[in-house]
Amino acid sequence: MERYRRLSGKNISKWYKTFGRKNLPWRKKVTPYRVWISEMILQQTQVATGIDYFLKFTEKYPDLESIKFASEDDVLRLWKGLGYYRRATYIYQAKEIIHNKLSGKFPEEFDSIVSLPGVGRSTAGAILSIAFKKPYPILDGNVKRVLSRFYFQKIFNEKKFWILSEQMLDKIDPFSFQQGIMDIGATICKKQNPDCRVCPLKKSCKSNIRSDYFNLPAKRAKKKSLHLNFKIHYKENKIFLIRDNALGFWKNLWMPPYEICKNNNYDIKHTISHRDLFIEFKSEEKVDQFENGQWFEKEKLQFIATPKPISDKLLKL
Ligand code: SF4
Repeated sequence: MERYRRLSGKNISKWYKTFGRKNLPWRKKVTPYRVWISEMILQQTQVATGIDYFLKFTEKYPDLESIKFASEDDVLRLWKGLGYYRRATYIYQAKEIIHNKLSGKFPEEFDSIVSLPGVGRSTAGAILSIAFKKPYPILDGNVKRVLSRFYFQKIFNEKKFWILSEQMLDKIDPFSFQQGIMDIGATICKKQNPDCRVCPLKKSCKSNIRSDYFNLPAKRAKKKSLHLNFKIHYKENKIFLIRDNALGFWKNLWMPPYEICKNNNYDIKHTISHRDLFIEFKSEEKVDQFENGQWFEKEKLQFIATPKPISDKLLKL
């Protein structure tokens, strides 16, 4: 790599104080718990979608104490429709660890935070920087894009990315810096057509100096399709649901027994991260025996964690 000017985090902190998105709900009131929940939501979800889920989640469970006795189902239910349900399970598992092994106090040290389920190095860095004002690097897609363009290097290896992310940290004000780099990556240094005119890094950014930045279209991998035939057993105001994890998604959620089939009929199409699901519902009189199944009263369905397309159907029965 040719010689370059280092990216200075101080410009970013300064920029954040004036232009940052301070109205985001998790930024209005900052606690380790709220930063953690927001980071878990934002791991796989755009900010615009994540806001409603964050508000709903923190309305029900505003802090660690309030979520202490929540079951895994309770947490999964709040996640309904957001996808990547494993994140909800991780939140459940992590709060159990915090309450049972860490005296109910959110940990403040990197090693303890990164050992919580679902928390990787970048999420731990965000929690430490924002909630505890300790300078730890983060590295997500947005940060990588800013770094790649700033140094005009299309691909760094992961190790180099982490080194550069650590180098640019504003150690005096990691709180403003980290939120600033997140905002610049999401709103200015966008995948397509970065708005360099308003970027605080424009004077030293190689891509801007060369007027030659990488446009990085979202990778659109072709999704696989899967046809699912759900068998609805309905008797005396009760519906039979199972919970199995054989599909590899919708883990720990309740749903009617199903078959994977090859026909082309379907009632609804539902898209998840890596698949297009073609879903068909059929009423069945005979109930096969399932060890992992049970009957639920129809009135209770709204309180059960089910995948969104399934609950939409069942609640209309
Ligand atoms: S100056 Fe332009 S290309 Fe460089 S970091 Fe800012 S927005 Fe991205």
